[in-house]
Amino acid sequence: MSGNRVRLQAIRDVEAYVPPSASFTDTEAPGQIFGENVFNKVVMQKRLPKSVYKSVIATIEHGAKLDPLVGDAVASAMKDWALEKGVTHYAHVFYPLTGLTAEKHDSFLEPVSDGSALAEFAGKTLTQGEPDASSFPNGGLRNTFEARGYTAWDPTSPAYVLENPNGNTLCIPTVFVSMTGEALDHKTPLLRSQQAMGEHAERILKLFGHTDPEHVVSFCGPEQEYFLVDRHFFLARPDLLNAGRTLFGAKPPKGQEFDDHYFGAIPERVLGFMMDTERELFKLGIPAKTRHNEVAPGQFEIAPMFERANLAADHQQLLMTTFKTIAKKHGMECLFHEKPFQGVNGSGKHVNFSLGNSEVGSVFVPGDTPHENAQFLVFCAAVIRAVHLYAGLLRASVASATNDHRLGANEAPPAIISIFLGDQLADVFGQIAKGAATSSKGKGTMIIGVDTLPVLPTDPGDRNRTSPFAFTGNRFEFRAPGSMQSVAGPMTTINTIMAESLDYMATILEKALADGEDFDTAVQLLLTEIITEHGDVVFNGDGYADAWPIEAEKRGLANLKTTLDALPELITEPAMALFEKYKVFNHREMHSRYEIGLEQYALTIGVEARLTLEVGATSILPASVRYQTELATNVAALKAAGVEGDPDALAEVSGPIAELRAGLATLKAALDEETDHGALAEAEHARDALLPAMLTVRAAADTLEAIVADDLWPLPTYQEMLFML
Ligand code: ADP
Ligand code: MG
Repeated sequence: MSGNRVRLQAIRDVEAYVPPSASFTDTEAPGQIFGENVFNKVVMQKRLPKSVYKSVIATIEHGAKLDPLVGDAVASAMKDWALEKGVTHYAHVFYPLTGLTAEKHDSFLEPVSDGSALAEFAGKTLTQGEPDASSFPNGGLRNTFEARGYTAWDPTSPAYVLENPNGNTLCIPTVFVSMTGEALDHKTPLLRSQQAMGEHAERILKLFGHTDPEHVVSFCGPEQEYFLVDRHFFLARPDLLNAGRTLFGAKPPKGQEFDDHYFGAIPERVLGFMMDTERELFKLGIPAKTRHNEVAPGQFEIAPMFERANLAADHQQLLMTTFKTIAKKHGMECLFHEKPFQGVNGSGKHVNFSLGNSEVGSVFVPGDTPHENAQFLVFCAAVIRAVHLYAGLLRASVASATNDHRLGANEAPPAIISIFLGDQLADVFGQIAKGAATSSKGKGTMIIGVDTLPVLPTDPGDRNRTSPFAFTGNRFEFRAPGSMQSVAGPMTTINTIMAESLDYMATILEKALADGEDFDTAVQLLLTEIITEHGDVVFNGDGYADAWPIEAEKRGLANLKTTLDALPELITEPAMALFEKYKVFNHREMHSRYEIGLEQYALTIGVEARLTLEVGATSILPASVRYQTELATNVAALKAAGVEGDPDALAEVSGPIAELRAGLATLKAALDEETDHGALAEAEHARDALLPAMLTVRAAADTLEAIVADDLWPLPTYQEMLFML
């Protein structure tokens, strides 16, 4: 089918589509199926010998090193459990640096000498795999003549069964490393950073009287925003299909947001999808409650309950895969792109994080006693210091070509990394800056100390939607991560910079104690020092205001607008020293991340540029020219009949057509240009030549969309995609 007929057929198909009903029925209680497909602690306790169970739990709960001897026993129990669930294959699941999820599938069946096959699954098969993975990005860490990457079982993230009409698969979460042990994935550094953060957080807890604190871990609750569009439209948009975002499309005319014809149908269909996703997520042990409260039409949000960061990261990836699959089942496509529709709200992934253990809960909850409050303030000060010192790294952890469309735009957090504390906490730190906090705003709190620190109200009070890093009562919320990225990168950065700050503070306080100084005074002095030196990163105002970038510059806060401004932060001396010191990344690994960041950036924009050229030249230009011809024919025919036509209309379409042609020529020239000078040059070329040329093409095309006869227009419009669900 050609151009406009694809679109018109899609509209008819959408109108005729009858979505399936959800499979989550009234009679099925969510509790019945929760974790049904997970090889979790309950299953392990039932199926593993006691000593093996204990050993695995010691690794999961307390970060103990995995005893290599338990592998066989766990593998065997896992296999039996999986076979009972109709599993035929197993897969090592890992998270390569493309940001996607990769799986290496193998059959349980292994041929034996008599020609038959046996279901085999040995310990070594569980604990280590060797995917044929030479095509995953490694930023120079793994030359093809070197050995391949290896996957290694991560026992802290439970194995699960993924159901599929063509056979069920046992999925084993793994890390992905080179033969020399260098990280090729997002999970390895996350686990390393947890370790570092935990160690130093425990030192702080000890100083506050927890003599033998439980292992401190970081928790993460990612709020995920996404769009749903009807699949008929999705398939009729090569840009959405291949780049995940619309490279063309005029904004829908105002006032038509609430088209009555479609309004009633929206909740039902999306609700069916939501119920189905919930059911699937429950089976996989992902505690998620969907909701539909987003600003843009067609946009929704889901927030799974917070979990340990590495588990949350795995679950988050699994959630995205599940959403994609279930959306298809309901005739829709789920879009995780940060900016699928220009001029319409974008999607983020808010990373809520806290540190803690089952003993103290979140260290970001002010306790009931001043003593606990002092501990709370120390942890908060650590965050303030960490974010101020390493704002560039936080910015780099969310840098991507796709997130560039969102950060700094009007409805997303600005690219300037600052902290919002809320009035009460800001007030307390304001007083600490002056020497000592003696009172706390609102809620009639008392004046006491460790001995001079106030009791703090637990109510977070106010919210600030414009801040990239906000205190929200019992946690911090990092709002800059993009909707399609893994939370592992941001969490790795947060853990590492927290490890450094906690280390710094613990060292000072331990020394004070060893020197026989008064602990309360030492805490007080340290807090004052930190808020004095790093208080500039605290900003409670409107992050969208024009005055903020100017003010931020005065404060010396960086405004790293694009990915190419942010990525060099990864390879500064202080950054590399930091990650090396806490054994999260060595120099080579940092350089590899930087290189991969550049490659991915150039790759993303390269694909978009080629798509822009293709769609522009083969769909939009022909449709526009047809309309131009129609008008010209009309003018000529009328003239022949002695009637005055409308030459203005012809000129109106001819102008943008000329611009479109010129834009396409420039874009083609930019694409044809030789740029084989390494990753940085390619990325710069993408930013400086491809992106501007794409914008020129788009501007002309979007103008034409408003002029060309609707029945000729080839691409589903914003109006159709956003409001026909
Ligand atoms: P809000 O509407 O205030 O943003 P939500 O209920 O949407 O709150 O919660 C946002 C996310 O924050 C959820 O994923 C939730 O599990 C998570 N969260 C709540 N408490 C914590 C915590 N202590 N540490 C980490 N994440 C948390
Ligand atoms: Mg929130």
